[in-house]
Amino acid sequence: MDITELTVHELKEKLEKHELTSEEITRAYIDRINEKEKDVQAFVTLLTDDAIEKAKKIDSEKENKSPYAGIPIGIKDNMCTKGIKTTCSSKMLENFVSPYDGTVVDKVVNQEKMINLGKLNMDEFAMGSSTENSYFKKTKNPWDLSRVPGGSSGGSAAAVAANMVPWALGSDTGGSIRQPASLCGVVGLKPTYGLVSRYGLVAFASSLDQIGPITKDVEDAAILLSIIAGHDSKDSTSMDIPKKDYTKSLKNDIKGVKIGVPKEFFGDGINEEVKNSLEKAIEIYRSLGAEIEEFSLDIAKYALATYYIIACAEASSNLGRFDGIRYGYRTENFTNLKELFRNSRSEGFGAEVKRRIILGTYVLSSGYYDAYYKKAQKLRTLVQNEFKKGFEKYDVILTPTSPITAFKIGEKSENPLEMYLSDICTVSVNIAGLPRNIYTMWIR
Ligand code: GLN
Repeated sequence: MDITELTVHELKEKLEKHELTSEEITRAYIDRINEKEKDVQAFVTLLTDDAIEKAKKIDSEKENKSPYAGIPIGIKDNMCTKGIKTTCSSKMLENFVSPYDGTVVDKVVNQEKMINLGKLNMDEFAMGSSTENSYFKKTKNPWDLSRVPGGSSGGSAAAVAANMVPWALGSDTGGSIRQPASLCGVVGLKPTYGLVSRYGLVAFASSLDQIGPITKDVEDAAILLSIIAGHDSKDSTSMDIPKKDYTKSLKNDIKGVKIGVPKEFFGDGINEEVKNSLEKAIEIYRSLGAEIEEFSLDIAKYALATYYIIACAEASSNLGRFDGIRYGYRTENFTNLKELFRNSRSEGFGAEVKRRIILGTYVLSSGYYDAYYKKAQKLRTLVQNEFKKGFEKYDVILTPTSPITAFKIGEKSENPLEMYLSDICTVSVNIAGLPRNIYTMWIR
């Protein structure tokens, strides 16, 4: 048996039956990392040195163990980890060590006692769709090392796909969990906005960001979501709703479930391979008794522009805090305060981050606010309303995750617009706060 092939629910069962120890599991993953990481390059910081000691300690504890104690995990490098670097894959935060654990990190590492094997590579400040925007390294797709793993949580998805961790945490502002999970052939879930605390997640676009699981199967995704979801008074956008065991929603039977398939997601620009696998999925759902119907989600074509205006506007404001004084990189090249700000930011941020700050500042500027930002906010409401209408008719709306399969490293990195187009299937979900529309949820 190869331990690293197992899902977390299988590992947990074997731990409970004393067929495996946490030490054996942790060792197997460390061996796998030693074998694969040189090719895949998924980690920014490896924490394997004291992992065995931690596992031994958990094995020696007999009572009151949390169910997932001693199970390894990997964490995207934009979640604050006390005493461990949190770089956001940026030169700006290359040496930043957080003085506290973010809420989700606290839940998995301190409360559940999972073993954090490392911080995972990403596009700088979570901006990108291929993990090529990392300041440190380019993560490879473990299935074909000449291809990207997707992004921005490319390190998380690649680490799970390469069996270097049994599951991982990612974050999703416009697709950054789902798209890399899709390109690496693993499961990724972007939770409803407000379900999971963002406290300690370095902000990209605060009205869109959510932390979520990247796993080997759906059951593990439900387990990890059940662990990380829940109200947090430290995040004012966190929803105060009862905690739930999402594994209870995993039923075998989907007879009579109504699935709507928006035709706009099957048109031009969606490649044949993607269309074919969607068709196959539809056939499987149909054979299991689901009712499938095509419908029109008319607003889909505006979603990408709306997303890039809102996300850049919020990013330009959120990234204002990196000034060379309070956090992160400080230039050595200055003679006055203005130069200190300017040179720290010019030298500390990469090209994509600068592009977004400039775009965001532009759409928020007094001359263009009405033409861009305000219009985007109106479109955001329209996108939400369209989804609301869809969900009045259907239980599930089914779309592809990515319009294309994993592309070659370097294929799109010189053309930002083409890279943005690869987010076309995912961004509208963030704009609407889905899977459950937060606005309709609050009204009810
Ligand atoms: N690829 C999208 C972007 O570049 C989404 C990023 C994300 O979800 N963090 O903005």
